[in-house]
Amino acid sequence: MKKIANYINGKLVAPQNEKYIDNYNPATGKVYSLIPDSSEADVNDALVAARDAFVGWASLRNTERADWLEKISHGIESRMNELALAESTDNGKPLWLARSVDIPRAKDNFKFYSTAIRHFSSESHQTAEGVINYTLRKPVGVAACISPWNLPLYLFSWKIAPALAAGNTVVAKPSEVTPMTAYLLSEICEEIGLPAGVLNIVHGLGHSTGNALISSDEIDLVSFTGGTATGAHIAKIVAPKFKKMSLELGGKNPNIIFDDCDFDKMLKTTLNSSFANQGQICLCGSRILVQRGIYEKFKEAFVRKVKDMKVGDPMQEDSRQGAIVSQPHYEKILDYIAIAQEEGGKVLTGGKAIHLEGEHKDGWYIAPTVIAGLDQQCRTNQEEIFGPVVTIQPFDTEEEALALANSTGYGLAATIWTSDLHKAHRMGNKVESGIIWINCWLLRDLRTPFGGVKNSGVGREGGWEALHFFTEPKNVCIAY
Ligand code: NDP
Repeated sequence: MKKIANYINGKLVAPQNEKYIDNYNPATGKVYSLIPDSSEADVNDALVAARDAFVGWASLRNTERADWLEKISHGIESRMNELALAESTDNGKPLWLARSVDIPRAKDNFKFYSTAIRHFSSESHQTAEGVINYTLRKPVGVAACISPWNLPLYLFSWKIAPALAAGNTVVAKPSEVTPMTAYLLSEICEEIGLPAGVLNIVHGLGHSTGNALISSDEIDLVSFTGGTATGAHIAKIVAPKFKKMSLELGGKNPNIIFDDCDFDKMLKTTLNSSFANQGQICLCGSRILVQRGIYEKFKEAFVRKVKDMKVGDPMQEDSRQGAIVSQPHYEKILDYIAIAQEEGGKVLTGGKAIHLEGEHKDGWYIAPTVIAGLDQQCRTNQEEIFGPVVTIQPFDTEEEALALANSTGYGLAATIWTSDLHKAHRMGNKVESGIIWINCWLLRDLRTPFGGVKNSGVGREGGWEALHFFTEPKNVCIAY
């Protein structure tokens, strides 16, 4: 069985304790590879390598680091099909999705930051005749980058690319649930001869390997994407040491649909924003709020379309939905569906596991689920489920929609559907959320700030925001 290796100081190495964890294929429920169960000793090796590499990497010209990032991007491009297959096998997502979104986007992340760093500049201010202030933007040091399982290589590279571009060295830990494409990335870095220690990838469990990484005094900053509870735990350890932190956390995103929207376009996009990647995208809209005038029409049309969505083998091109990423997550989603029913919710479609046949009979599949009849304060409408489960609720006025939208502890993303320009701007301004989509969803521009408010996180990724986070400003005032 294939054994994944850590990538430390430019070499692919086994964990020192020789211990491994099972890696499952969610589509079949079977173990198909082994992941290093890395200990603190492996993390420390990676940190030493990153520290040793820092001065050399930070002293390169921006354009030289940009060239390295471009080589990584080309390396990903040249192994596109292999990476897509690995992502789908590890995560359960349809192969077509990994091929069309995840891996191209990972390639683009390196490409984007290889060009961004060439154009990155800092400010200078003439204060008076004979006085100039200028701001240096220095790399921070050794960056700890931790990412989740839902968009494995895509989110992993979204951190690593700007961290490296800005001149930091990196110790990264992918989710132990989906380690394979991070491992293949380390093969690419080895192949292209990336200088040793610049990027180190250590695999293992969050509470041991991840915890050893964020608890170490040898890191200079933490970039984390994952659940809100894990983010709070990390903040407790890292904040008292006054290290920089960027926390991209959970969401409970509203999808607000007004009577005057373009119904067909909204319906098509809402299917995606509800169920893409089995609903396991932090930006999916899990609370659908529909204005009363079209509520019944929407309910009927939406449920009909959801019933037609094929849940099946992720390798088949016509599978709209694949498998849920892991057995614990599958059980958690089914528990939430039971809670929704206990809370008085009516399941309009789905609401159950799906059992496929043949080699997929033990895979973890859940029918896309639509639930109505719940009030906003219940657990189903307050807590993040992160699966193929949405609720629908009617509203009458703009004020009511706003109150419903803002009534959770989260504030990551919101979608608004209306053809009234004034209403779109009013709502866009007032919904408490880091990201607003009006009459669209997941239309990404890598230059824009990405992140949430309230319990959805602290800090922003993307564009200059990430390069600001991964650099430390130093102001120099000179009188001449
Ligand atoms: P987790 O918080 O469980 O894990 C995220 C990462 O943190 C994993 O690599 C995990 O390792 C690691 N980890 C867990 N415990 C610790 C610890 N004590 N110290 C250091 N690292 C640790 O999140 P999930 O992987 O379950 O991801 C789903 C969550 O991510 C959802 O809440 C979703 O909303 C959020 N998310 C947010 C996004 C955003 O941009 N705001 C984007 C995508 C997802 P391991 O998996 O090996 O345990």
